[in-house]
Amino acid sequence: MNTVATFDQVRELVGASVGLVPTMGFFHEGHLSLIEAARRSTETVVVSIFVNPLQFGDSADLAAYPRDVGRDAVLAGSSGADVLFIPDVDTMYPKGSRTIVTVEGASASMEGAYRPGHFAGVATVVAKLFAGIQPDVAYFGRKDAQQLAVVRTMAADLSFPVEIDGLPIVREPDGLALSSRNVHLAREDRASALNLHNALFAAGDAFEAGERSVNALLEIARATIDVGAGIDINYIEAADASDASTVDRIDGPVFVAIAARIGNVRLIDSILLDPATERADRGTYIDNPSILYGGA
Ligand code: AMP
Repeated sequence: MNTVATFDQVRELVGASVGLVPTMGFFHEGHLSLIEAARRSTETVVVSIFVNPLQFGDSADLAAYPRDVGRDAVLAGSSGADVLFIPDVDTMYPKGSRTIVTVEGASASMEGAYRPGHFAGVATVVAKLFAGIQPDVAYFGRKDAQQLAVVRTMAADLSFPVEIDGLPIVREPDGLALSSRNVHLAREDRASALNLHNALFAAGDAFEAGERSVNALLEIARATIDVGAGIDINYIEAADASDASTVDRIDGPVFVAIAARIGNVRLIDSILLDPATERADRGTYIDNPSILYGGA
């Protein structure tokens, strides 16, 4: 595996079909599942690590974001990456940059409402990665379901010739969705964090039992939250999986997303409801404690 820092270096190294996995690093099994999927279907696998200042409203959150590039390089290489792209801020945002990509509609609700400017930061950095690396396929996790809808919309609107592949959420053995931020969860907050996926799974169970009303499903999810658990729920909402637009009934693929602050950590999770299969996609589980916590 080669580690490089400029777009020219990446383009020199790539072959006929290029898979791109954009990340902010501090890898866990969710990231590795994306790299492995890219390895299975594309010739050259490029993994990018960039903690994108443009998508962080809060500078303390940006400063506290966990980082370990040495560990990430080992994990990326062993998962099948060919090129690890770690640009600096000047490479991604050359001096004098004035262009921001804003995806109307898909960016407005949920994460967009709680983190103003967040999706403009995401859409801009992903557009720049698409332009600079020119991948054939780009891999994203469904955990960030609204982000996936924003990226799909951006790529279609700007005519990027790239296929966007959304992959299942990878969960810890107790069900908590893997997130680099989980390392900051205090021991006593961990049990509270399980409220997130339990609420989504309750909605998933009701969907699989035949419920198609979004209001009814959201009520069921909200009713499962343990009000004594000390978690501050930002939202539990549902949206069309393709463009994050509002839906009342589940007639096509819809995601239900939840965001909450637990202690100092803000976590998000989601579940995909697909009426074609009548299934709620809860994702997959790892068997052992995550590599996030220092395991092999
Ligand atoms: P991040 O480094 O958090 O920006 O995430 C990079 C990519 O990994 C995004 O496409 C995320 O949706 C994806 N991802 C993060 N957590 C998970 C997870 N638990 N399962 C699957 N994909 C994930």
